[in-house]
Amino acid sequence: MEKKELVQMLALEDFEPVYRRADAVRRENTGDIVHIRAIIEFSNICRRQCLYCGLNSTNEKAVRYRMSVKEILDTARQAVDAGYRTIVLQSGEDPHFHKETLGEIVTAIKEMGAAVTLSCGELTFEELRYLKNCGADRYLLKHETADPELYDRLHPCGTLKERVECLKNINRLGYETGSGFMIGLPGQTLETIAGDLLLLKELNCKMAGIGPFIPHPDTPLAGEKAGDTELTKRAVALARLLLPKANLPVTTSLGVVNREEKDNAFACGANVIMKKVTPDPYKQAYEIYPAKLEKTDVIGDRKKLEEQIRQLGRIPL
Ligand code: SAH
Repeated sequence: MEKKELVQMLALEDFEPVYRRADAVRRENTGDIVHIRAIIEFSNICRRQCLYCGLNSTNEKAVRYRMSVKEILDTARQAVDAGYRTIVLQSGEDPHFHKETLGEIVTAIKEMGAAVTLSCGELTFEELRYLKNCGADRYLLKHETADPELYDRLHPCGTLKERVECLKNINRLGYETGSGFMIGLPGQTLETIAGDLLLLKELNCKMAGIGPFIPHPDTPLAGEKAGDTELTKRAVALARLLLPKANLPVTTSLGVVNREEKDNAFACGANVIMKKVTPDPYKQAYEIYPAKLEKTDVIGDRKKLEEQIRQLGRIPL
């Protein structure tokens, strides 16, 4: 598919046939399993200033925290015991966690028998290589937007070129590479989204997270509109057509915008969901965007989610 065609499809009056095709392609290529990943948000300290993100270093209202290595490993243990097979370690770009500390955490979680996905922002080739050697399996780094000008406006630190270079390094080192982007960023057009989808393909992504932008009150984008859920689902469906075998999560932000839509996203190509296992009160403090969160119950939350997935006729794993 070319850019022009993708733009036309995003704008279709009746998208239902595309949803059906995306759902069929999902079933043929990934089956009916929905992978449930445990995400531990281990630090919300960040050196960057991404305009949309509540963790950006200029947000003085954010209550900052850093989990200790022991807290992180205890949480991972609980998640593994609850049945999770993948632990996602996510954080702001927190220089306190240098590669040796992260490596120690990765090694220990691998010994528990779980796969490890890292999502800690941009790292150097050397850091990425070190962590791969420690056993990290996958790396999630959303490119956020494939439009270089929009990227520059939203990111006072860093460039799209650097982000893409980092993603290429991730790929080169043999990680399963995950990227993704937001829908509804101020100034974004359908052409931008088409470009985002094509970049996923170009980057050889095995995972792609596509979610609506949600304005955070303590950021420069506080007054902007949230991203559209229908457009988000369309982008997920097209990502499924472009990357038939990829793991495509239903993003948490989609659930935040509209609880119902979240289940529907499983019908338009998605096959993965992440569940926060971050202990309270850290979970509440990891506020990328505002969301109503319930208290963490690692075992109970997973059971509930498994039940919801079964009710959709799918198989939780
Ligand atoms: N520091 C890591 C993790 C970032 S947070 C990194 O740089 O990759 C994970 C994702 O949350 C981001 O990649 C971004 O796509 C998303 N995000 C941040 N702010 C958001 C907002 N206001 N609305 C929706 N998604 C947001």
